[in-house]
Amino acid sequence: MPSSSTKRLHKQVALVTGASSGIGTGVAVALAEAGATVVVNYHSDAEEAEQVVAHIKEKGGRAITIKADVSKEDQVQQMFRQTIEQFGTLHILIANSGIQQDAPLVDMTLEQWQQVIDVNLTGQFLCAREAAREFIKRGVQPDISRAAGKIICMSSVHETIPWAGHANYAASKGGLMLLMKSMAQELAPHKIRVNSIAPGAIKTPINNEAWETPEAARKLLELIPYGRIGEVEDIGRAAAWLASDESDYVHGTTLYVDGGMTLYPGFADNG
Ligand code: NAD
Repeated sequence: MPSSSTKRLHKQVALVTGASSGIGTGVAVALAEAGATVVVNYHSDAEEAEQVVAHIKEKGGRAITIKADVSKEDQVQQMFRQTIEQFGTLHILIANSGIQQDAPLVDMTLEQWQQVIDVNLTGQFLCAREAAREFIKRGVQPDISRAAGKIICMSSVHETIPWAGHANYAASKGGLMLLMKSMAQELAPHKIRVNSIAPGAIKTPINNEAWETPEAARKLLELIPYGRIGEVEDIGRAAAWLASDESDYVHGTTLYVDGGMTLYPGFADNG
């Protein structure tokens, strides 16, 4: 763990949804390293979530697990109640949970459409609403942060880049962009900062087919001007900064962490 002078999230409580794997784990670890007490939300894999907590504790941090399905209102409310009962309040929400259910449009079932919208968009709404309720109730604690609270939505480059074969996912992330901005506009007077992170291609279980074989990795790298596939730590560091007062004037924005994927690399030598 870094020295206390670098613990810019000291005394803050952070809830990270879907933190038992991938980007959520990377973010939970980074926030703990920055001094936050972390709630590691998980959907089904308790063992993985406990491993994340053990890792954080080994490094001198503080964390617990809470199980909840972010698409279910009662479970989300229970998760926030439990967090606040245990730690007194919450300062940071990283609404990270997300899924893919890929299919060509003509074959996509209503269930595939609905599951993705339920987790990726409704889940964001339910978690952000509960966080905002707590932030408004508590208000600013000037010795802790300049903001009453920070909401960070885990979006994707597909909030801007259309994605054939993934219409449900792209629609969920496109919708999330305007949910984030509308919440930012509405919650600013309460000193609540709302932003998104839009990862490009990060090595996690959600997209292992895209980087597992050398051929897939080569094809993927054609889309990344910076020439490497992202790591969860890239997103963790961005989240820790965006949750801290160092970014206090950043509000209603999507931070792309994508090695340049949104630069339309196909146009680099064509057009
Ligand atoms: P991942 O599959 O490792 O993580 C997704 C997490 O969401 C898992 O921990 C899963 O258990 C959790 N989850 C799924 N359904 C849930 C539910 N109903 N309730 C609570 N949690 C649930 O994949 P990841 O890549 O780490 O994805 C994390 C986020 O990052 C997602 O929102 C994803 O869309 C976004 N993202 C990932 C990439 C990438 O390249 N990996 C790129 C852009 C955006």
